[in-house]
Amino acid sequence: MEISKRYRRIKVVAYTTIAKPSNGTVQKAKVLLKLSPITYKNNGKEHKVEAYYIKGLKGVLRHAAMECARTKGLEVCHTSDKTTDKSGNELIPDGFHPLCSCYPDNECIIHRIFGSIHVPSKIKVWSLPVANIKHAEFESEHPLNNMHVATENRIALSYDGRAIQDFREGYLSGEFTFFVDVTKLDEEEIRFILESLLYIDTLGGGVSAGYGVVRLKEIVVEDVEDIRKLVKTEDGYKVVYEENVRVINV
Ligand SMILES: [Zn+2]
Repeated sequence: MEISKRYRRIKVVAYTTIAKPSNGTVQKAKVLLKLSPITYKNNGKEHKVEAYYIKGLKGVLRHAAMECARTKGLEVCHTSDKTTDKSGNELIPDGFHPLCSCYPDNECIIHRIFGSIHVPSKIKVWSLPVANIKHAEFESEHPLNNMHVATENRIALSYDGRAIQDFREGYLSGEFTFFVDVTKLDEEEIRFILESLLYIDTLGGGVSAGYGVVRLKEIVVEDVEDIRKLVKTEDGYKVVYEENVRVINV
């Protein structure tokens, strides 16, 4: 027994010297999430390693898309639906309109792709889990980003040099792959996302101190056939996953 699903995605291979995937303003708002450990094999021996997930890539892409639209002179949704703050200051800069105010009569390209509270997004953005595997050769059942992951111990000092707070911040370094599911987009929207990707230059916090610089190394539009097979075993069935990937151009 076997089923197959087709979808279209953009695969992006990126590199960062050092990134701290936290949003910088709130200490606890970490976006490097700890996952359950990943099992891999080296020389037939099984090992376990800690794994993480990079959150926030969709937000990074959305900001890049807003910058792309602004450069093209397209008026698009801002991230806020409010026009003024509590003190009456204007919140919406030139080139933007309040979130969702364009919908449904004059829908902008950002709303068409990213949606709002009222309309679901047409894209999905995800990355492979990050694991720090030190063996030069390894086999893992699931695809992953093998990156250097470490923790920096930091101390915040008061004016007289006393330590007032100790904290640890995770960071990562190396090459990583993420995907954008663009199955629901038309060709114009896919091209807009491709161009928007070029505006990505940072990830996470600490940018002013030189952290989080991202360089994209490879962008591929792929047509994916996701196959699931039920294979009979002595104990019942096991599910085998396969993927056929075809490179396409738009
Ligand atoms: Zn809009």
